[in-house]
Amino acid sequence: MSVNSYLSRRDVLFGVCACGFAGLTRAAVGTAPAPTLATDEVAAGIHIRRGVDEDATAANEGAIANIGFIVGRDAVAVMDPGGSLVDGQRLRATIRKATGLPIRYVVMSHVHPDHIFGAGAFTEDKPQFVGHARLPNALAQRGEYYRMRLEQILGTGRSGPVISPMMLVKDQSRIDLGGRVLEITAHGNAHTDCDLSVLDPQTETLLLSDLLFVQRVPSLDGSLKGWLAELARLKSVAARRAVPGHGPTGVDWPAASRDLERYLGTLQRETRQAIAQGIDIGQAAKTVALSERDKWTLFDDYNGHNVTRAYKELEWD
Ligand SMILES: [Zn+2]
Repeated sequence: MSVNSYLSRRDVLFGVCACGFAGLTRAAVGTAPAPTLATDEVAAGIHIRRGVDEDATAANEGAIANIGFIVGRDAVAVMDPGGSLVDGQRLRATIRKATGLPIRYVVMSHVHPDHIFGAGAFTEDKPQFVGHARLPNALAQRGEYYRMRLEQILGTGRSGPVISPMMLVKDQSRIDLGGRVLEITAHGNAHTDCDLSVLDPQTETLLLSDLLFVQRVPSLDGSLKGWLAELARLKSVAARRAVPGHGPTGVDWPAASRDLERYLGTLQRETRQAIAQGIDIGQAAKTVALSERDKWTLFDDYNGHNVTRAYKELEWD
């Protein structure tokens, strides 16, 4: 599928960028914020900043995803680098305040801009930028579009560059921070077609990025059936805590998968019913999964788009 057909006007309007661009809000730039971020240490040496439950605006400077870093004996790994250059710069300042250890890895969990446009803040550290084997292709298709959209929202020069990872994960890989080996998994088509998760076996902590949404409505930009399948697999991973891409910084695992699984299951069941009843895609987008409306923030901004994606996937079953 070409970039142009993929980024149709309808997709743009309904937020193909999926976690950050449903709105076109442009708020005034506030006063200069503190150079570091408030983070939670969700497990020993794992520090996470909670993103705000909003779409990217000039006021929040794209700081809408949960991002953070993991400290080993010899080195630091970042996941994710942030939603804009300034978000990444603040994360880097936060790391530098916490430890002088080198930043050797910057894990880029998937293609969405709210997670990875801070990567440019870390180039001086000469880290390995780590991504799913399909991430370079996804960035080749969408990276420049995302960059331009982010510049429109944040202001010229504030998005950060498109950085493509060099260390690619096809299945599984490990990175060693010294006394702490992280297991990186490349997932099948789920939230997007290029989702990575990171497991820290030492603290039984699973960093899931947007494979897990908590409180903020999920956005579907990959495969509904695939996401449900990956979620079922992830529930059996030996972890007791997870870090979602949006929502609280640390949640019980696998208990915290329940709401997401219920939402995706409802989306699948009711979209199938709509298709079977001959309800057209536009009407389905207005009626499917409404029982979930009061359970998630930003529901009205994303649910219709999710139904549209689900309908296109399921109508061929
Ligand atoms: Zn995402």
